[in-house]
Amino acid sequence: MQPLMNHLWPDGKLLGIEWSVWKMLGWAGNATFFSRFLVQWYVTEKRKQVVVPQAFWWLSLFGSLTLVCYSLHQRDSVFIFAYAFTPIPYLRNLIIHRRYKDAHQDCAGCGRKIAPQANFCPACGVQVPKPD
Ligand SMILES: [Zn+2]
Repeated sequence: MQPLMNHLWPDGKLLGIEWSVWKMLGWAGNATFFSRFLVQWYVTEKRKQVVVPQAFWWLSLFGSLTLVCYSLHQRDSVFIFAYAFTPIPYLRNLIIHRRYKDAHQDCAGCGRKIAPQANFCPACGVQVPKPD
């Protein structure tokens, strides 16, 4: 047990890292950003098709914003540039996702949500009225 503790806690520091509030923020950003891959992979495996769920974009947005804050604190230009502009496509994808969701309509036959491009309800087969 002691050799393991020596690796996990060398010199009295967890994982040998000099911990501070900023370091914890940076690692929280890393964990948030990394977790998006696990979420995307899980949903893709579950549905047996490649899916990018809305949670992926939220985790990307919060992870990258946290990492931008950390990189600004570190004054590391390479790190700042790597994350400074990534929130733009994440926000744009969230907006497009919201608009697509709002464009769904309720089926007159069964009340389920129908995709905007659908001509018939996939659940009950009722024809979807198209707005002019
Ligand atoms: Zn229906």
